[in-house]
Amino acid sequence: MLRDLGVEGVEVRTPEELAAVDALIIPGGESTTIGKLANLYGLIEPIRGRVRGGMPILGTCAGMIFLASGTTGPEQPQLDLLDVVVERNAFGRQVDSFEADLAIAGRDKPVRAVFIRAPWIHKAGAGVEVLASVVDPSSGEDRPVVVRQGNILATSFHPELIGETWIHELLVEATAAG
Ligand code: GLN
Repeated sequence: MLRDLGVEGVEVRTPEELAAVDALIIPGGESTTIGKLANLYGLIEPIRGRVRGGMPILGTCAGMIFLASGTTGPEQPQLDLLDVVVERNAFGRQVDSFEADLAIAGRDKPVRAVFIRAPWIHKAGAGVEVLASVVDPSSGEDRPVVVRQGNILATSFHPELIGETWIHELLVEATAAG
């Protein structure tokens, strides 16, 4: 996705590698595992420091959970940078994964979103802007799934699976501005 935008992407696993980048993407996966590994590699405080210092960051799915300040479930390692409480696996199990077209604030065309055992935002602080919500297929209720808080962007789905770069563009714009 970054290559499509003419931006170089490198993998970050250590504080030294973190120090060398201008922005960070925390991908999907499994948020407790990401948290445990981030702890093990000594990345939690360095990431907090960079993001508080203004570095743009994008968290997708498990990455959004890791960025958040809490979950509705048991405690797990989190960065506590994004002022939201998330509900993990909120739409159901793996077989309940789904796709939907979302209207994004500030964009005229809807974007396609792939939700894979995705979380939703249960509660958001006053400084958090909700850019998009999705109708939960099982309850019919609207759930926030794209948020921005200053230099922090997060989606509860996998924006890289569709080939649309809109959220990566927002990250790159924030990086260029910062
Ligand atoms: N269910 C995963 C979690 O709670 C997130 C899934 C994903 O990143 N696609 O960590």
